[in-house]
Amino acid sequence: MTKERVYNFSAGPSMLPEPVLKKAAEQMLNYENSGMSVMEMSHRSSSYLDIFNNTKALLKKVMNVPDNYEIVFLHGGATQQFSMIPLNFLKTGKADYAVTGNFSNLAYKEATKFGDIHVAYDGKEDNYAHIPTQDELNLSEDADYLHICANNTIFGTEYKYDPVTKNGCPVIADMSSNILSQKVDVSKYGMIYAGAQKNMGIAGLGIAIVRKDLLNDVPANAPVLMDYSLMIKKDSMYNTPSAYAIYMCGLVLEWVDQNGGVEAMYERSIKKSQMLYDYLDSSDFYKAAADKANRSRMNVTFTTPSKELDAKFVKESIEAGMTNLKGHRLVGGIRASIYNAMPVEGVEKLLDFMKKFEEENK
Ligand SMILES: *Cc1c(COP(=O)(O)O)cnc(C)c1O
Repeated sequence: MTKERVYNFSAGPSMLPEPVLKKAAEQMLNYENSGMSVMEMSHRSSSYLDIFNNTKALLKKVMNVPDNYEIVFLHGGATQQFSMIPLNFLKTGKADYAVTGNFSNLAYKEATKFGDIHVAYDGKEDNYAHIPTQDELNLSEDADYLHICANNTIFGTEYKYDPVTKNGCPVIADMSSNILSQKVDVSKYGMIYAGAQKNMGIAGLGIAIVRKDLLNDVPANAPVLMDYSLMIKKDSMYNTPSAYAIYMCGLVLEWVDQNGGVEAMYERSIKKSQMLYDYLDSSDFYKAAADKANRSRMNVTFTTPSKELDAKFVKESIEAGMTNLKGHRLVGGIRASIYNAMPVEGVEKLLDFMKKFEEENK
């Protein structure tokens, strides 16, 4: 039994900021004298509509979303949008996908059900340790869009630039695991989307920030909940939205806003990830998994000298009050996910543990 909260290095669902959990707890039984929990509210009530509209306004503010974009809240996390993207954005039937990891591969495979999908980059050969440079992207002249995954949660790599297309078609980016962790020039993307459970709330909720003019001719047979234009027209309430998850997203956005916004989140992410990478680079015992130029600020992946020591590391880290450091089953090794909600103290504690473990096992 764990009596205290642990430092949870899970890749997702992941840590939430403690003030967010406390506020949710305070408001659990009686939200602002409404006499009920947010979970019990009609999504059409004025109390709930205030929550909804504030959440949307905060996301617009925090991400500096231009007026020609719409924000939409969806069901089905990020994965449902793997299907929605080709369904809504294929016009001629062709699209480019840069496959830089597990999720971009899943997005690619889903898209092949709908059209003629071209792999603009495939990172498989070097086990997804690398992010393509702009020149390494093999782009088509006639694609309807380019799909990228901005941060590869499993492999620990991240784009450090905004890719551009050859023919001016929009770039669509899965930002599930690095949204709200840096300033993004939204106008460089046709659409940005994310599942909420990594850096902006709890699982089940998906968000999308879509440039309005791209949704002019969605196919008539698109299922209602998978039609971005209809969902936007209904202001995310064609049916009952993921009401509580949207409320939680609002609390997270409020926390980001009150703590210096995405600029401050970026500074902290550099500080935390650099603490770990600097040590990994100085050590002969550990080895960082991702290419130096493409290392993620959110998911730090590394190995010890053997699989046995990896397992021992994970076991002993749990005893030391840290959880979920085991790498994804597809890659093994160790992965420390250090999203916005992970305090610097958590990373310091991990670093101390890593040093001690190295001393004891080298
Ligand atoms: C977690 C994750 C997903 C999948 O999110 P779900 O909400 O489980 O569908 C997709 N893309 C990236 C980059 C992720 O990190």
